[in-house]
Amino acid sequence: MTESSPPNSPDPDDLLRPAIRKLKPYASARDEFQGTGEVFLDANENPYQSPANRYPDPYQSELKAELRQLKTIPEGQLFIGHGSDEVIDLLYRAYCEPGQDKVLLFPPTYGMYRVSADINAVSILQIPLRQDNFQLDLEAIRPHLHDRTLKLAFVCSPNNPTGNCLDQADILTLAREFPGLVIVDEAYIDFAPEKSLLRLTERPPNLVIMQTLSKAWGLAGLRLGLCIADPRIIRALNKLKPPYNIGSLEQAHALQHLRQPEIQASQVRGLLEQRKWLAAELSKLDKVEAVLPSEANFLLVRFERPLEVYHFLAGKGIIVRDRSRLVPGCLRISVGLPEENQALIYALNQMPHEESVVH
Ligand SMILES: *Cc1c(COP(=O)(O)O)cnc(C)c1O
Repeated sequence: MTESSPPNSPDPDDLLRPAIRKLKPYASARDEFQGTGEVFLDANENPYQSPANRYPDPYQSELKAELRQLKTIPEGQLFIGHGSDEVIDLLYRAYCEPGQDKVLLFPPTYGMYRVSADINAVSILQIPLRQDNFQLDLEAIRPHLHDRTLKLAFVCSPNNPTGNCLDQADILTLAREFPGLVIVDEAYIDFAPEKSLLRLTERPPNLVIMQTLSKAWGLAGLRLGLCIADPRIIRALNKLKPPYNIGSLEQAHALQHLRQPEIQASQVRGLLEQRKWLAAELSKLDKVEAVLPSEANFLLVRFERPLEVYHFLAGKGIIVRDRSRLVPGCLRISVGLPEENQALIYALNQMPHEESVVH
């Protein structure tokens, strides 16, 4: 990725809200002095309670160095948010003028894209994924692409809740024709690493990739979301973010995990095996109409009567996600520990057939 854009690709800096283009960001104590010192009297910290008494590194240099090496990301192209949710919000605030600009969404998909748009008073254009395969419907999308108020488009791959990856050629076509930034949310990509757009050597400068440590890395509680993008986009996000958006304990804890990637890899292998087992077992059940193919750590499962199943399971203490308003008939089931997955299948087998229910 270079900083010069191909002729028809938008310059990310031209897409910025004027207020953000003009913004002079807060300069923290750690911005103003970055060398090594021994006596730090510049940030009004309490000198006791080491190590949490000190403000964290505002740019998470060590953590980024580890991630950049692990994922082969060039310098200046990685941003870390307080979860992907912060990255999503910052993208809206950097690029979408409230009450004026629009975002393009492809339902059924992750709910935060809409919530964050609503919070930021950004109107939403929805073009549903194709019903037959949950892929982008480029024919339906194209007529809208001349709209210059479309600043962002969120593509989720593997998609939550459908579980499939979106076709890479379609995403690149969209990026080529879209007037704003195309954000590809790869929250589940560690379960299908060969499908990551990060592997492309040439990415259009308006293509933004989000990943997270919340899923395959098992660190949802730390709140660490990654954004990999053109340096101009990374600079904009850095300008906008709260100065100390990632705590020092979180940075240290994440580093420890990232330095043992073989543990994550073996957990991912185990979860993929469990997904296969769970899909096979679910398919054997009469009450299951379909188990959708998944490239993530969850299965979208269609039932004849999803709400009955949902409440029956909840009564047994097994909580799944009702997604039937997004995809008719469907519950979303995360792949858990082997014994949890067995408990789910056991419970489903116990569920009475309708005929035997006493009314
Ligand atoms: C779980 C998930 C995330 C992760 O969000 P964090 O804020 O990083 O925990 C992002 N996108 C999608 C589609 C998800 O399902």
